[in-house]
Amino acid sequence: MKTPASRARPARRTMTLAEVRTFIGQLAAANPDAASELNFVDDYTLLVAVVLSAQATDASVNRATVALFRDAPNPQAMVELGEEKVGQHIRTIGLWRTKAHNVVALSRQLLERFDGQVPGDRAALESLPGVGRKTANVVMNVAFGDSTMAVDTHIFRIGNRTGLAPGTTPRAVEDQLVRRIPAEMLRPAHHWLILHGRYVCKARKPECWRCPAYDPCQYRLKDDLRAVGPEAGPGGATAG
Ligand code: SF4
Repeated sequence: MKTPASRARPARRTMTLAEVRTFIGQLAAANPDAASELNFVDDYTLLVAVVLSAQATDASVNRATVALFRDAPNPQAMVELGEEKVGQHIRTIGLWRTKAHNVVALSRQLLERFDGQVPGDRAALESLPGVGRKTANVVMNVAFGDSTMAVDTHIFRIGNRTGLAPGTTPRAVEDQLVRRIPAEMLRPAHHWLILHGRYVCKARKPECWRCPAYDPCQYRLKDDLRAVGPEAGPGGATAG
């Protein structure tokens, strides 16, 4: 099933705009209430949770933030808690030392530069320690209602695999998604795509046999995977 050609170009072709609308619409119909799986209670705890989630699962972040947000629910409390104790709370998360440093540093900057509030514009967000374009896009989308598209590993894979938004870098895929997804679908599409990648269109074994967006998808191996069904081995498809 795996060939050099399918590895290099997992999609047969780029979806048409009509297919993009159908694809996103079918994901929406399958999961209309899709939302972030990170636990947070306000803009600040959302920002911290997203910073902690880089290269970590949402479940691992949620386990750590129960106690962290109990002890430090706002920037002032986080600065007072300090880097060492923050590190103790998040030790089970990858890159915890760097993240502990960044969470305390960004909390201090929120107090010093933004009156303790999470700013809503991209430049201000990206000026904070540990906050890159992807994190800013999530915060702008979830907290401020902007139609941004944060491209994580799932969305990057789906964009290329299905022909939805081919691109060699996360930014290229983001730009294609923003250009190609109908404007009224763009904001929630972030969640529909992440959850689809997490639970159906998985990295090593996309579950094409139960995919709600099978028809518009242009993945080269989808027919084979649907024919084999759940019996496909864990390495059944790794073409991207
Ligand atoms: S699960 Fe299969 S059919 Fe569905 S979007 Fe992914 S590759 Fe396409």
